[in-house]
Amino acid sequence: MASLFNKVLIANRGEIALRILRACRELDISTVAVHSTADASAMHVRLADESVCIGPPSATESYLNAAAILSAAEITGAEAIHPGYGFLAENADFASMVVEHGFTFIGPDPSQIRIMGDKIRAKQMAVELDLPTVPGTADAITGEEAAISAAEEIGYPVLIKAVAGGGGRGMTVVHDEGSLIEALKLARYEAKMGFGDDRVYLEKYLDHPRHIEIQVIGDKFGNVVHLGERDCTLQRRHQKIIEEAPSPVLSAAEREAIGTRVAAAMRTFGYSSLGTIEFLWQDGRFYFIEMNTRLQVEHPVTELVTGRDLIREQIRIAAGEPLSFGQSDITFTGHAIECRINAEDPRTLMPAPGKVTAFHAPGGPGVRTDSALYSGYSVPPYYDSLIAKVIVHDTNREAAIRRMDRSLAETVIDGISTSIPLLRALCETDDVKKSKYDTGWLGRFLADWD
Ligand code: ADP
Repeated sequence: MASLFNKVLIANRGEIALRILRACRELDISTVAVHSTADASAMHVRLADESVCIGPPSATESYLNAAAILSAAEITGAEAIHPGYGFLAENADFASMVVEHGFTFIGPDPSQIRIMGDKIRAKQMAVELDLPTVPGTADAITGEEAAISAAEEIGYPVLIKAVAGGGGRGMTVVHDEGSLIEALKLARYEAKMGFGDDRVYLEKYLDHPRHIEIQVIGDKFGNVVHLGERDCTLQRRHQKIIEEAPSPVLSAAEREAIGTRVAAAMRTFGYSSLGTIEFLWQDGRFYFIEMNTRLQVEHPVTELVTGRDLIREQIRIAAGEPLSFGQSDITFTGHAIECRINAEDPRTLMPAPGKVTAFHAPGGPGVRTDSALYSGYSVPPYYDSLIAKVIVHDTNREAAIRRMDRSLAETVIDGISTSIPLLRALCETDDVKKSKYDTGWLGRFLADWD
């Protein structure tokens, strides 16, 4: 095999650090793990060829500490840095620093991260790239008069969104003109307090959308291929918990149409890495909400229906190789579902860190578990509560749901509370089986789940 990189530093932790490490190993690339003092005995550290402690438990001082990560790359002689997801993955300044220090950033160009990280610029870019967007103001709202006429033009209900908002925060629904000005003042104040930036803009509020996103990959030679969609409609407080491919609501022709349109847009954008274009979908129409310029948590469902290893491909592309497949090589087989298992109380949804006394991953045909857990491991309280992803593949959706239910029943995670009871309840719910839901469905389900 042609040599890609000799050594890659993985600037992350948990299941995704392990997933990247596995891809590197299969490509014959040595790995460097970085870790906080709280993660000294974590699985990603145990399995890597080398490891460097980069700081105390708090993420700000460790996994978000760009200087410490760059030093670790320097002293170990790594050639490239993979940021995973979360932490520094969508930090354009970090990506620039990586490049300026002479390393390869395994991701897109820093300027593209910067554009897509700014909600208004991203939306303007989507319009330029001919992607369908949610009707709304093209810029931040300046005065009360402008807000009133913009809302009228968009039509109620409207959504006030903070320009600097993120993680599902900084959004207010307004149903009529009578409450617009008060809501605007409050939203500005909250945005100032929460994000240090009081700019807000208006958008049409979609009242029963599904979340459907398109996976793309591009190389440095202008080739861009789409790998179909993932349906991530089952969310609570805007956090995805179950994802699947294909979406139960799209026909093959609709998939082809949106996929082709997104791939063309990314070709114009000059995008060369893994990326996901997220849409809300309502009554047969797509509305762009954002682009994630990184690997996503739910990438395995796409891997299972396409039979492609997205991370190996992402690393190859970063090393300057052309895409190893074209659009016509991509076919979709069967149905894949992913459940995110969090260390949390399944009812209050409060994080529940602690010691895992026993861990057993499910197995059998069509079952994959991505996790960094082991028996005796203590889940630290400092980071995200995602501890395992169970992903299943079967010939059709109904069979995949049954396979998921039996896989969750086999999973043993003793010593801490997890979201498994909720995930199992969902597999057994009629609306889920029939795919009759929108992004608000799970919130309503949880309100009277007992
Ligand atoms: P964030 O950056 O905070 O994740 P997004 O713009 O991606 O913000 O939106 C997060 C979620 O908020 C979406 O997945 C969707 O559930 C909801 N949302 C966003 N925009 C709208 C809209 N115009 N109408 C209805 N729901 C929306």
